[in-house]
Amino acid sequence: MSGRPRFSGAWTRAAQWGASGRVLELLNMLVDTHAHLMDAAFASDLPAVLERASAVGVETIVCVGYDLTSSRAAVALAAERPGLFATVGVHPNHLAEAPDDWHRQLRVLAREPRVVAIGESGLDYYRTYTPPELQREGFAAHLALAAELDLPIVIHCREAEADVLEALAGAPSGPSARGVLHCFSGSATTMATAVEAGYYISFAGTVTFKNAAPLREVAARVPEDRLLVETDAPYLSPMPHRGQRNEPARVQLTADCLAQVRRISLDALADMTTANARRVFRWSPGAAA
Ligand SMILES: [Zn+2]
Repeated sequence: MSGRPRFSGAWTRAAQWGASGRVLELLNMLVDTHAHLMDAAFASDLPAVLERASAVGVETIVCVGYDLTSSRAAVALAAERPGLFATVGVHPNHLAEAPDDWHRQLRVLAREPRVVAIGESGLDYYRTYTPPELQREGFAAHLALAAELDLPIVIHCREAEADVLEALAGAPSGPSARGVLHCFSGSATTMATAVEAGYYISFAGTVTFKNAAPLREVAARVPEDRLLVETDAPYLSPMPHRGQRNEPARVQLTADCLAQVRRISLDALADMTTANARRVFRWSPGAAA
């Protein structure tokens, strides 16, 4: 055991969120940077889900909106529970069904308290519920809104790496921490290009899957100041729970996998990714109040 303090700087406030100092007794603290707690999958037992997360040191969870309804729900959830933050956006798969004025409604929502990012947005050429051209327009609109409001963006990219990178290259400049490539599944080259452009790389349970050795190699090479960890709950449960409903407590399993491939302790991985989450979402002491 090293003598180094387990929680640094602003994160001591997170420890206060745990009941009666319980969090301070834990080995590490992790942020789940991407979860859909507003999903119907959690409608019946959210308090228990949050309790299990808390029990393993996951006190801070970013609730990511994927359409106007879920974005509104994320804002409401973050307002009512300490430790939860919200993002607002319309996922590319949901753009086709969004109301004509979704962009106007999103701009209003984005100004709500505890909204820390725009998204998730991006391109999904695996599922083309929304025609690709409309997806590209929607993504450009999210990038413009993020720049306008000086917020980072949470990016979904599936089988669309070249077009996502092109959109990022042409995006108006926003905050210096420009956003997150969530549930990263791309190549080392895409990772390096995104990092160079100022983005963070977040891994979900997919990195733990048996056939994901190439992705683990990419994860090992992400610069230590750009690595994030997430669940994408209720989806993508890490091993050994693949196929089950995912929940924020399981971010620990993905973090453990990342720690192993990077040959560092889980404690060090937690410190690193938590500091990165704090930087990209620009949390400051008092933000939880
Ligand atoms: Zn998601």
